[in-house]
Amino acid sequence: MTIQVFFSHRDKTPAFELDRFEGLCPFCALEGPQVAVRPGAIAYSELKPCLFRDDQGRYHDHDANNRSQTFTCTNGHNFEYRSFWRCHACQWTGGQTALILW
Ligand SMILES: [Zn+2]
Ligand SMILES: [Zn+2]
Repeated sequence: MTIQVFFSHRDKTPAFELDRFEGLCPFCALEGPQVAVRPGAIAYSELKPCLFRDDQGRYHDHDANNRSQTFTCTNGHNFEYRSFWRCHACQWTGGQTALILW
């Protein structure tokens, strides 16, 4: 399972997402009480962001990078949490669609 979440470049910190996510297994959440989740490795892509100003003077930050982290719950479920940046000027997300659960 991969969970994708977007947030504006103004707050390029995934702390909010991880805080909200901590301790929750999306598989167990469907079945009942939450169980402990153990965080795994964090990985970052290394693409160069495209920064530019458009005709109206708006500042764009088109950053296709993502931050991903694996998790394992005490019931043996494995899943990955992936965060993407979104341009605050035009909502560009590098072709990614918002908040997908599968
Ligand atoms: Zn679970
Ligand atoms: Zn933009």
